[in-house]
Amino acid sequence: MTDATLYLDAAATEPVSRNVIDAMLPFMTDAYANPASVHQDGKTAARALDAARRSFAGDLGAHADDVIFTSGGTESDNLAIKGIALAAMRRLPQGVRPRIVVSAVEHPAVAESARWMARFFDADVITVPVDGRGRIRLDALEGALVAGDGAGSRPVLVSVMLANNEVGAIQPVEDVVRIAHRHHVPVHVDAVQAAGQVPIHMRDWDVDALSVSGHKFGTPKGLGALLVRGRVPIEPLLSGGGQERGLRSGTQNVAGAVGLAIALDESITFMREHHAELVASRDRLIRGVLEAIPQARLTGDPEHRLPGHASFIFPGVTGEALLVDLDARGIECSSGSACAIGRHEIPSTLLAMGLEPAVAKSALRLTFRRPLADADIARIIDALRASCESLGLH
Ligand code: PLP
Repeated sequence: MTDATLYLDAAATEPVSRNVIDAMLPFMTDAYANPASVHQDGKTAARALDAARRSFAGDLGAHADDVIFTSGGTESDNLAIKGIALAAMRRLPQGVRPRIVVSAVEHPAVAESARWMARFFDADVITVPVDGRGRIRLDALEGALVAGDGAGSRPVLVSVMLANNEVGAIQPVEDVVRIAHRHHVPVHVDAVQAAGQVPIHMRDWDVDALSVSGHKFGTPKGLGALLVRGRVPIEPLLSGGGQERGLRSGTQNVAGAVGLAIALDESITFMREHHAELVASRDRLIRGVLEAIPQARLTGDPEHRLPGHASFIFPGVTGEALLVDLDARGIECSSGSACAIGRHEIPSTLLAMGLEPAVAKSALRLTFRRPLADADIARIIDALRASCESLGLH
């Protein structure tokens, strides 16, 4: 990336801040001991791990006991879906299948975990539709929970993301919890895109389990956590030494936990100070794009959306061609999900929102964690206009 490059792919990943590196470094050099060791250096590492756990939990409105450190969002989602469903199966009457209820816009880490449960454990997976703005239909959620044992299954888990990666829509998680709990069903929330960007109050919202991934808010990649309340029965997916309440065996990454706590804290402080500015710059960008390119349409919810997330469709061109053209102009962005390992797939959220595949293919996502300067907004709009023109959109 050159100085002239504008990086607008924060939903894919973020750089690691200097403070985070500085805070992590001692736990890879001097204070490198295993936190399970009983000697003094081990105790030092264990204290750092505890402090990181407390700070991290506090920033998510959770308790230190809730935190299970993992290798990131994918692992956290897998542990939540499979672990909670497997534990619930042990309590179901013979012959009754576990029902897993997920929204139609979940990340593959959730959707595929549910599908895996269907494939190997005959789980009944119900996908709840979203409206045209990408928000879950609460009436349909209720329906998915009430369908009785006549369906041969009983609901054991609801999983709904807090913020969508493709269109930035923020889900009404508190309503989801209220409805699910009325049916005595626990709720897992994938907060990977939301953490550090919007306030999260896990306990106040009465959420049962919550996934977070560090590299979305400034840690090295491969770090995250599942927060899960003690009241929720859950089976571990890894067998071993019993670390992390027995739910995630393996020597803990102390430096990683320290980095997670510092990075989340930094992001939250930054958001507290700059949220309004970030939203204002996002809205200037959205207005500018819609004015400059008449064919452009905003996707997602104009009101309930991440502060640094602008997503559009440009019917008549493909998002892939736009991406490549913009890249050549020094603008790095994405078409939707970053997790399709270089494959250009049609953003599934847009299909779930009812867009035709040909239209959904024209999606573009611009995501950022810092307010955009007016000069940058002007540059993005000029580049987009030029790219659209060069691709034949007039
Ligand atoms: N969940 C959501 C909503 C995501 O956007 C992502 C990654 O983009 C993940 C889960 C997976 O997280 P990780 O990259 O840490 O495995």
